[in-house]
Amino acid sequence: MRVLVVSDIHANLPALEAVLAAAGPVDATWCLGDLVGYGPYPNECVERIRDIPNLTCLLGNHDAAALGYIGIDNFNLDARASMVWSQNTLSEASKQYLAQLPEQVVKERVTLAHGSPRNPVWEYILESRTATSNFDYFTTDYCLVGHTHLPILYMDPNGTGHARPILAADRENNRVTPRMILNPGSVGQPRDRDSRASFAIFDLAEDRWDHYRVEYNVAGVQQQIIALGLPVRHAIRLSEGW
Ligand code: ZN
Repeated sequence: MRVLVVSDIHANLPALEAVLAAAGPVDATWCLGDLVGYGPYPNECVERIRDIPNLTCLLGNHDAAALGYIGIDNFNLDARASMVWSQNTLSEASKQYLAQLPEQVVKERVTLAHGSPRNPVWEYILESRTATSNFDYFTTDYCLVGHTHLPILYMDPNGTGHARPILAADRENNRVTPRMILNPGSVGQPRDRDSRASFAIFDLAEDRWDHYRVEYNVAGVQQQIIALGLPVRHAIRLSEGW
C-alpha cells in the first residue's frame, strides 16, 4: 500500500496542489493536521483535502485554534493576527469539517499524531530527548508526526537511551525499520531553509519512506498574503524556508 503523507499545509493551496500532482496515484492519503493558519487559502485547502479519496486527516493546533478550542494567547503577534483572520474567513462548512477531525489515529502498524503520541496536538518533537521519551507512548511499528515543519526520522533508542535523529536529506537509502518516528516536513511552510513543499510516500508493503520536495509558485502565495493584509513576515518566510 502506497500512502501519501502530508502535514502542515497551512492554507497554502498552490503548495498542496503541487504535492498532489507530484505524488501521483496513491492508495491512501494521510494528513497530519494544520490545514489552516498562516496562509491565504483556508477554505480552499479544507475543500481540497476533504475531497481526497481514502483520506485520514488529523486535527492540528492551528485547526484547533481556528475553531476556538484553544486560546491564541501563546501565539506570537503575527501568528495571532493571521489566526484571527482565519477564524473570520473560514466558512461554517470548513469549520464543521475541522471540528470532526480526530487528534490521533492508529492505522494497522502506524500511529498518526500531529505533534507527538504523548501530547498529539501540542508537543514538538524537535530533538532526541523528546523523541526518546515519546517511544513509550505508541506501540505500533511506526509513529508519524508533523508540527515542527522539519523532515526528520528518529530511530528507536534500542537500549542506548537516545533516539537517533536522521535528517531526511542525509539518508542513504529509503528503507525504514521498526520502530521509528517519521516526520514528512511541511507542505505549506517548510522551516528547513528549503522553500520547496515537503512530503513523503510511505510504502507499507516494502517498509520504504520516500521523502520528496516539489517547487510551487511561492511568489504567487506571497502576493496573496500581502494583498489580503496578512503579516508580511508570513510571506517572507515562505521563500526563505523558516
Ligand atoms: Zn504547523
